[in-house]
Amino acid sequence: MPAQKVKISETVRINSLVLHRQKQGKAVFNLGAGEPVLDTPELIKRAAEQALRENKTLYPPVAGIPELRKLAAHWMNNKYRTHFKPDNVLVTNGGKLGLYLIFQSLLKQGDEVLLNSPYWVSYPGIVKLFGGKPKILRTTEAGGWKITPNCLKKACGKKTKILILNNANNPTGILYSKSELKGILKVAAEKKLTVISDEVYSGLIYGKNKFYSCASFGRLSKNSMVIQSCSKNFAMTGWRVGFVFAESQMVKILTGLLSQSTSGVTTISQWAAVAALKYPQKFTLPLKNELRKRRDVLVAELNKAFGLSLKRPESSLYLFVKMGDLGAKKISSMEFCKGLLEKTGVALIPGSACGQEGYIRFSFGSKPEVLKKAIKILANYCKKLN
Ligand code: PLP
Repeated sequence: MPAQKVKISETVRINSLVLHRQKQGKAVFNLGAGEPVLDTPELIKRAAEQALRENKTLYPPVAGIPELRKLAAHWMNNKYRTHFKPDNVLVTNGGKLGLYLIFQSLLKQGDEVLLNSPYWVSYPGIVKLFGGKPKILRTTEAGGWKITPNCLKKACGKKTKILILNNANNPTGILYSKSELKGILKVAAEKKLTVISDEVYSGLIYGKNKFYSCASFGRLSKNSMVIQSCSKNFAMTGWRVGFVFAESQMVKILTGLLSQSTSGVTTISQWAAVAALKYPQKFTLPLKNELRKRRDVLVAELNKAFGLSLKRPESSLYLFVKMGDLGAKKISSMEFCKGLLEKTGVALIPGSACGQEGYIRFSFGSKPEVLKKAIKILANYCKKLN
Protein backbone atom coordinates (compact mmCIF):
# COMPACT_ATOMS: atom_id res chain seq x y z
CA MET A 1 0.00 0.00 0.00
CA PRO A 2 1.40 3.46 -0.86
CA ALA A 3 2.48 5.42 2.21
CA GLN A 4 0.01 8.24 1.44
CA LYS A 5 -2.87 5.84 1.96
CA VAL A 6 -1.84 4.72 5.44
CA LYS A 7 -4.21 6.16 8.00
CA ILE A 8 -2.92 7.66 11.22
CA SER A 9 -3.34 5.24 14.12
CA GLU A 10 -6.71 5.84 15.81
CA THR A 11 -5.21 6.00 19.31
CA VAL A 12 -2.60 8.51 18.15
CA ARG A 13 -5.39 10.57 16.54
CA ILE A 14 -7.49 10.62 19.69
CA ASN A 15 -4.42 11.46 21.75
CA SER A 16 -3.71 14.44 19.44
CA LEU A 17 -7.29 15.69 19.96
CA VAL A 18 -6.75 15.33 23.70
CA LEU A 19 -3.53 17.36 23.55
CA HIS A 20 -5.26 20.00 21.44
CA ARG A 21 -8.07 20.32 23.99
CA GLN A 22 -5.55 20.59 26.80
CA LYS A 23 -3.71 23.37 24.95
CA GLN A 24 -6.99 25.27 24.70
CA GLY A 25 -7.25 25.07 28.49
CA LYS A 26 -10.21 22.66 28.36
CA ALA A 27 -10.59 19.81 30.84
CA VAL A 28 -9.62 16.35 29.63
CA PHE A 29 -10.14 12.93 31.21
CA ASN A 30 -7.93 10.68 29.18
CA LEU A 31 -8.97 7.05 29.29
CA GLY A 32 -7.90 6.64 25.70
CA ALA A 33 -4.12 6.60 25.87
CA GLY A 34 -2.50 3.23 26.39
CA GLU A 35 0.06 4.24 28.95
CA PRO A 36 0.59 4.12 32.69
CA VAL A 37 0.31 7.77 33.73
CA LEU A 38 3.10 7.59 36.28
CA ASP A 39 6.49 9.21 36.68
CA THR A 40 9.43 7.16 35.46
CA PRO A 41 11.12 5.81 38.62
CA GLU A 42 13.83 8.04 40.11
CA LEU A 43 16.68 5.54 39.63
CA ILE A 44 15.96 5.28 35.93
CA LYS A 45 15.86 9.05 35.53
CA ARG A 46 19.14 9.34 37.43
CA ALA A 47 20.81 6.86 35.09
CA ALA A 48 19.81 9.06 32.16
CA GLU A 49 21.19 12.16 33.93
CA GLN A 50 24.43 10.36 34.62
CA ALA A 51 24.72 9.27 30.99
CA LEU A 52 24.31 12.91 29.99
CA ARG A 53 26.96 14.09 32.47
CA GLU A 54 29.32 11.42 31.16
CA ASN A 55 28.67 12.69 27.65
CA LYS A 56 27.26 9.43 26.40
CA THR A 57 25.68 11.41 23.63
CA LEU A 58 27.24 10.07 20.44
CA TYR A 59 25.63 7.62 17.99
CA PRO A 60 24.88 4.28 19.64
CA PRO A 61 25.79 0.95 18.00
CA VAL A 62 22.81 0.46 15.65
CA ALA A 63 21.58 -2.79 17.26
CA GLY A 64 21.81 -1.30 20.75
CA ILE A 65 24.49 -0.77 23.38
CA PRO A 66 26.00 -4.13 24.45
CA GLU A 67 25.09 -3.58 28.13
CA LEU A 68 21.41 -3.26 27.21
CA ARG A 69 21.33 -6.23 24.82
CA LYS A 70 22.91 -8.41 27.47
CA LEU A 71 20.52 -7.28 30.21
CA ALA A 72 17.47 -7.61 27.95
CA ALA A 73 18.39 -11.23 27.17
CA HIS A 74 18.95 -11.91 30.85
CA TRP A 75 15.61 -10.31 31.79
CA MET A 76 13.65 -12.54 29.39
CA ASN A 77 15.61 -15.69 30.29
CA ASN A 78 15.34 -15.11 33.99
CA LYS A 79 11.72 -14.10 34.13
CA TYR A 80 10.19 -16.09 31.29
CA ARG A 81 12.51 -19.09 30.85
CA THR A 82 13.67 -18.23 27.37
CA HIS A 83 17.19 -18.86 26.03
CA PHE A 84 18.29 -15.67 24.37
CA LYS A 85 21.86 -14.47 23.92
CA PRO A 86 22.75 -10.81 23.41
CA ASP A 87 22.98 -11.31 19.66
CA ASN A 88 19.33 -12.43 19.68
CA VAL A 89 18.35 -8.93 20.84
CA LEU A 90 17.72 -5.82 18.78
CA VAL A 91 16.98 -2.56 20.59
CA THR A 92 14.30 -0.63 18.71
CA ASN A 93 12.53 2.72 19.00
CA GLY A 94 9.64 1.22 20.96
CA GLY A 95 8.13 -2.18 20.33
CA LYS A 96 6.21 -0.56 17.49
CA LEU A 97 9.29 -0.03 15.35
CA GLY A 98 10.29 -3.62 16.03
CA LEU A 99 7.01 -4.78 14.50
CA TYR A 100 7.42 -2.38 11.60
CA LEU A 101 10.91 -3.67 10.77
CA ILE A 102 9.86 -7.32 11.00
CA PHE A 103 7.01 -6.79 8.55
CA GLN A 104 9.24 -4.73 6.30
CA SER A 105 11.71 -7.58 6.13
CA LEU A 106 9.31 -10.55 5.91
CA LEU A 107 6.35 -9.51 3.81
CA LYS A 108 5.93 -9.93 0.08
CA GLN A 109 2.94 -8.55 -1.83
CA GLY A 110 -0.19 -10.57 -1.02
CA ASP A 111 1.20 -12.51 1.95
CA GLU A 112 -1.50 -13.13 4.53
CA VAL A 113 -1.00 -12.20 8.14
CA LEU A 114 -3.35 -13.70 10.71
CA LEU A 115 -4.40 -11.56 13.61
CA ASN A 116 -7.31 -11.78 15.96
CA SER A 117 -9.95 -9.14 16.36
CA PRO A 118 -10.35 -7.20 18.50
CA TYR A 119 -6.76 -6.16 17.81
CA TRP A 120 -4.28 -3.47 18.72
CA VAL A 121 -5.14 -0.63 16.35
CA SER A 122 -1.77 -0.50 14.58
CA TYR A 123 -1.40 -4.08 13.33
CA PRO A 124 -3.50 -3.92 10.14
CA GLY A 125 -1.99 -0.57 9.11
CA ILE A 126 1.60 -1.79 9.42
CA VAL A 127 0.84 -5.07 7.64
CA LYS A 128 -0.83 -3.27 4.72
CA LEU A 129 2.02 -0.79 4.43
CA PHE A 130 4.34 -3.62 3.37
CA GLY A 131 1.93 -5.29 0.96
CA GLY A 132 0.57 -7.84 3.45
CA LYS A 133 -3.09 -8.79 3.79
CA PRO A 134 -4.46 -8.86 7.33
CA LYS A 135 -6.63 -11.96 7.73
CA ILE A 136 -8.83 -11.53 10.75
CA LEU A 137 -9.55 -14.31 13.22
CA ARG A 138 -12.74 -13.16 14.90
CA THR A 139 -13.00 -13.83 18.61
CA THR A 140 -15.99 -13.27 20.85
CA GLU A 141 -16.60 -12.18 24.40
CA ALA A 142 -18.40 -15.49 25.03
CA GLY A 143 -15.30 -17.33 23.82
CA GLY A 144 -13.12 -15.31 26.21
CA TRP A 145 -11.75 -13.24 23.29
CA LYS A 146 -9.31 -16.06 22.49
CA ILE A 147 -8.31 -17.81 19.31
CA THR A 148 -8.20 -21.60 19.33
CA PRO A 149 -5.90 -24.06 17.52
CA ASN A 150 -8.91 -25.14 15.51
CA CYS A 151 -9.86 -21.70 14.22
CA LEU A 152 -6.21 -21.07 13.44
CA LYS A 153 -5.95 -24.28 11.43
CA LYS A 154 -9.09 -23.45 9.46
CA ALA A 155 -7.87 -19.95 8.61
CA CYS A 156 -4.56 -21.05 7.09
CA GLY A 157 -4.34 -20.99 3.32
CA LYS A 158 -1.52 -21.16 0.78
CA LYS A 159 -0.59 -17.52 1.23
CA THR A 160 -0.76 -17.44 5.01
CA LYS A 161 2.68 -16.69 6.33
CA ILE A 162 2.53 -15.03 9.72
CA LEU A 163 0.49 -15.12 12.91
CA ILE A 164 0.52 -12.11 15.23
CA LEU A 165 -0.26 -13.15 18.74
CA ASN A 166 -0.75 -10.44 21.34
CA ASN A 167 -0.50 -11.85 24.82
CA ALA A 168 -1.19 -10.21 27.31
CA ASN A 169 -3.83 -8.55 25.21
CA ASN A 170 -4.72 -5.05 24.12
CA PRO A 171 -7.69 -4.26 24.09
CA THR A 172 -9.36 -7.14 25.97
CA GLY A 173 -6.95 -7.68 28.89
CA ILE A 174 -7.05 -11.47 28.43
CA LEU A 175 -4.14 -13.80 29.11
CA TYR A 176 -3.46 -17.10 27.35
CA SER A 177 -2.59 -20.13 29.49
CA LYS A 178 0.45 -22.32 28.90
CA SER A 179 -1.60 -25.09 27.32
CA GLU A 180 -3.53 -22.67 25.10
CA LEU A 181 -0.27 -21.24 23.79
CA LYS A 182 1.15 -24.70 23.24
CA GLY A 183 -1.88 -25.66 21.17
CA ILE A 184 -1.57 -22.53 19.05
CA LEU A 185 2.18 -22.97 18.54
CA LYS A 186 1.68 -26.59 17.48
CA VAL A 187 -0.69 -25.57 14.70
CA ALA A 188 1.60 -22.68 13.73
CA ALA A 189 4.50 -25.14 13.40
CA GLU A 190 2.38 -27.57 11.39
CA LYS A 191 1.35 -24.79 9.02
CA LYS A 192 4.89 -23.33 8.90
CA LEU A 193 3.78 -19.94 10.16
CA THR A 194 6.15 -17.40 11.63
CA VAL A 195 4.72 -16.32 14.97
CA ILE A 196 5.24 -12.72 16.00
CA SER A 197 4.48 -12.70 19.67
CA ASP A 198 3.77 -9.22 20.97
CA GLU A 199 4.48 -9.44 24.69
CA VAL A 200 4.78 -5.75 25.61
CA TYR A 201 2.33 -6.14 28.54
CA SER A 202 4.08 -9.19 30.05
CA GLY A 203 4.81 -7.38 33.32
CA LEU A 204 1.22 -6.20 33.85
CA ILE A 205 -0.46 -9.40 35.04
CA TYR A 206 -2.75 -8.91 38.04
CA GLY A 207 -4.18 -12.25 39.12
CA LYS A 208 -2.70 -15.61 39.99
CA ASN A 209 -2.38 -16.84 36.41
CA LYS A 210 1.13 -16.59 35.02
CA PHE A 211 2.40 -15.09 31.83
CA TYR A 212 4.19 -17.44 29.39
CA SER A 213 6.38 -16.21 26.57
CA CYS A 214 5.98 -17.81 23.15
CA ALA A 215 9.76 -18.15 23.15
CA SER A 216 9.71 -20.53 26.13
CA PHE A 217 8.30 -23.62 24.37
CA GLY A 218 11.55 -25.25 23.20
CA ARG A 219 11.22 -26.76 19.72
CA LEU A 220 7.79 -25.14 19.24
CA SER A 221 9.34 -21.69 19.67
CA LYS A 222 11.67 -22.13 16.71
CA ASN A 223 9.64 -19.92 14.39
CA SER A 224 8.68 -17.30 16.96
CA MET A 225 9.95 -13.76 17.40
CA VAL A 226 9.12 -11.70 20.43
CA ILE A 227 8.32 -8.00 20.63
CA GLN A 228 9.06 -6.43 24.00
CA SER A 229 9.22 -2.94 25.39
CA CYS A 230 10.13 -0.77 28.35
CA SER A 231 7.06 1.40 27.64
CA LYS A 232 4.40 -0.33 29.71
CA ASN A 233 6.59 -2.60 31.85
CA PHE A 234 8.52 0.30 33.40
CA ALA A 235 6.28 3.35 32.81
CA MET A 236 8.66 4.58 30.09
CA THR A 237 6.42 5.21 27.08
CA GLY A 238 8.14 8.46 26.11
CA TRP A 239 11.66 7.05 26.22
CA ARG A 240 10.95 4.87 23.18
CA VAL A 241 12.89 1.75 24.03
CA GLY A 242 11.66 -1.60 22.77
CA PHE A 243 13.16 -4.91 21.70
CA VAL A 244 12.96 -7.63 19.10
CA PHE A 245 14.07 -11.08 20.25
CA ALA A 246 14.82 -13.29 17.28
CA GLU A 247 17.43 -15.55 15.69
CA SER A 248 20.75 -13.75 15.30
CA GLN A 249 20.53 -13.84 11.50
CA MET A 250 17.17 -12.08 11.65
CA VAL A 251 18.58 -9.54 14.11
CA LYS A 252 21.32 -8.80 11.57
CA ILE A 253 18.77 -8.21 8.81
CA LEU A 254 16.70 -5.92 11.01
CA THR A 255 19.84 -4.07 12.10
CA GLY A 256 20.46 -3.29 8.44
CA LEU A 257 16.97 -1.75 8.17
CA LEU A 258 17.51 0.19 11.37
CA SER A 259 20.85 1.48 10.07
CA GLN A 260 19.02 2.96 7.08
CA SER A 261 16.26 4.52 9.16
CA THR A 262 16.69 5.70 12.77
CA SER A 263 20.36 4.63 13.23
CA GLY A 264 19.34 3.10 16.53
CA VAL A 265 17.69 4.25 19.73
CA THR A 266 18.63 7.48 21.53
CA THR A 267 21.74 6.76 23.59
CA ILE A 268 20.41 8.42 26.75
CA SER A 269 17.21 6.37 26.61
CA GLN A 270 19.26 3.18 26.28
CA TRP A 271 21.18 3.98 29.45
CA ALA A 272 17.90 4.65 31.23
CA ALA A 273 16.68 1.22 30.04
CA VAL A 274 19.89 -0.36 31.38
CA ALA A 275 18.95 0.94 34.84
CA ALA A 276 15.41 -0.43 34.45
CA LEU A 277 16.60 -3.89 33.41
CA LYS A 278 19.24 -4.17 36.13
CA TYR A 279 16.49 -4.51 38.73
CA PRO A 280 13.32 -5.13 36.72
CA GLN A 281 11.21 -6.44 39.62
CA LYS A 282 11.99 -3.39 41.71
CA PHE A 283 10.19 -1.24 39.16
CA THR A 284 7.56 -3.57 37.75
CA LEU A 285 6.13 -4.67 41.10
CA PRO A 286 5.11 -1.25 42.44
CA LEU A 287 3.91 -0.27 38.98
CA LYS A 288 1.77 -3.37 38.77
CA ASN A 289 0.36 -2.82 42.25
CA GLU A 290 -0.59 0.74 41.40
CA LEU A 291 -2.19 -0.30 38.12
CA ARG A 292 -4.10 -3.10 39.84
CA LYS A 293 -5.61 -0.45 42.14
CA ARG A 294 -6.52 1.71 39.16
CA ARG A 295 -8.07 -1.26 37.37
CA ASP A 296 -10.20 -2.01 40.44
CA VAL A 297 -11.28 1.65 40.69
CA LEU A 298 -12.33 1.71 37.03
CA VAL A 299 -14.29 -1.53 37.22
CA ALA A 300 -15.95 -0.59 40.52
CA GLU A 301 -16.94 2.86 39.26
CA LEU A 302 -18.41 1.49 36.04
CA ASN A 303 -20.30 -1.24 37.87
CA LYS A 304 -21.68 1.30 40.35
CA ALA A 305 -22.63 3.93 37.78
CA PHE A 306 -24.25 1.54 35.29
CA GLY A 307 -25.46 -1.25 37.57
CA LEU A 308 -23.14 -3.78 35.91
CA SER A 309 -21.07 -6.71 37.09
CA LEU A 310 -18.08 -6.38 34.81
CA LYS A 311 -15.16 -8.68 35.53
CA ARG A 312 -11.71 -7.31 36.20
CA PRO A 313 -9.31 -7.90 33.28
CA GLU A 314 -6.37 -10.20 34.09
CA SER A 315 -3.70 -8.17 32.36
CA SER A 316 -2.55 -5.13 30.39
CA LEU A 317 -4.16 -1.71 30.82
CA TYR A 318 -7.60 -2.09 29.35
CA LEU A 319 -11.21 -2.94 29.86
CA PHE A 320 -13.29 -3.70 26.76
CA VAL A 321 -16.94 -2.90 27.38
CA LYS A 322 -20.08 -3.58 25.36
CA MET A 323 -21.76 -0.31 24.37
CA GLY A 324 -25.14 -1.77 25.25
CA ASP A 325 -23.94 -2.02 28.86
CA LEU A 326 -23.52 1.75 28.84
CA GLY A 327 -26.98 2.23 27.36
CA ALA A 328 -25.50 3.42 24.05
CA LYS A 329 -27.29 1.37 21.44
CA LYS A 330 -28.17 3.25 18.29
CA ILE A 331 -24.84 4.87 17.64
CA SER A 332 -21.49 3.70 16.25
CA SER A 333 -18.57 3.43 18.64
CA MET A 334 -16.70 6.12 16.67
CA GLU A 335 -19.61 8.59 16.80
CA PHE A 336 -20.05 7.87 20.48
CA CYS A 337 -16.37 8.50 21.31
CA LYS A 338 -16.17 11.65 19.17
CA GLY A 339 -19.30 13.15 20.74
CA LEU A 340 -18.17 12.25 24.24
CA LEU A 341 -14.75 13.84 23.78
CA GLU A 342 -16.11 16.99 22.16
CA LYS A 343 -18.88 17.54 24.70
CA THR A 344 -17.27 16.36 27.93
CA GLY A 345 -13.51 15.94 27.49
CA VAL A 346 -13.65 12.21 28.30
CA ALA A 347 -11.45 10.28 25.84
CA LEU A 348 -12.11 6.60 25.07
CA ILE A 349 -11.19 4.38 22.11
CA PRO A 350 -13.97 3.14 19.81
CA GLY A 351 -14.14 -0.61 19.37
CA SER A 352 -14.30 -0.12 15.60
CA ALA A 353 -10.66 1.06 15.68
CA CYS A 354 -9.83 -2.36 17.16
CA GLY A 355 -11.94 -4.20 14.57
CA GLN A 356 -14.85 -4.78 16.94
CA GLU A 357 -17.87 -2.52 16.53
CA GLY A 358 -20.25 -2.23 19.49
CA TYR A 359 -17.52 -2.02 22.12
CA ILE A 360 -15.45 0.70 23.77
CA ARG A 361 -11.92 0.44 25.13
CA PHE A 362 -11.22 2.04 28.51
CA SER A 363 -7.61 2.45 29.65
CA PHE A 364 -7.00 2.39 33.40
CA GLY A 365 -3.53 3.91 33.08
CA SER A 366 -4.78 7.29 34.34
CA LYS A 367 -4.80 8.41 37.97
CA PRO A 368 -7.71 7.11 40.13
CA GLU A 369 -9.24 10.58 40.57
CA VAL A 370 -9.32 11.01 36.79
CA LEU A 371 -10.93 7.59 36.35
CA LYS A 372 -13.62 8.37 38.95
CA LYS A 373 -14.44 11.77 37.50
CA ALA A 374 -14.51 10.39 33.95
CA ILE A 375 -17.00 7.66 34.84
CA LYS A 376 -19.32 10.14 36.57
CA ILE A 377 -19.26 12.36 33.50
CA LEU A 378 -19.74 9.36 31.21
CA ALA A 379 -22.74 8.14 33.19
CA ASN A 380 -24.38 11.58 32.94
CA TYR A 381 -23.65 11.77 29.25
CA CYS A 382 -25.11 8.32 28.60
CA LYS A 383 -28.29 9.13 30.52
CA LYS A 384 -28.95 12.03 28.15
CA LEU A 385 -28.03 10.02 25.08
CA ASN A 386 -31.24 8.04 24.68
N1 PLP B 1 2.05 -3.65 21.01
C1 PLP B 1 0.90 -3.39 21.64
C2 PLP B 1 -0.12 -4.47 21.79
C3 PLP B 1 0.65 -2.10 22.16
O1 PLP B 1 -0.50 -1.86 22.78
C4 PLP B 1 1.63 -1.10 21.97
C5 PLP B 1 1.37 0.27 22.42
O2 PLP B 1 0.30 0.67 22.78
C6 PLP B 1 2.83 -1.45 21.33
C7 PLP B 1 3.00 -2.73 20.86
C8 PLP B 1 3.92 -0.46 21.09
O3 PLP B 1 4.47 0.05 22.26
P1 PLP B 1 5.82 0.85 22.27
O4 PLP B 1 6.16 1.21 20.87
O5 PLP B 1 5.57 2.05 23.12
O6 PLP B 1 6.83 -0.07 22.85
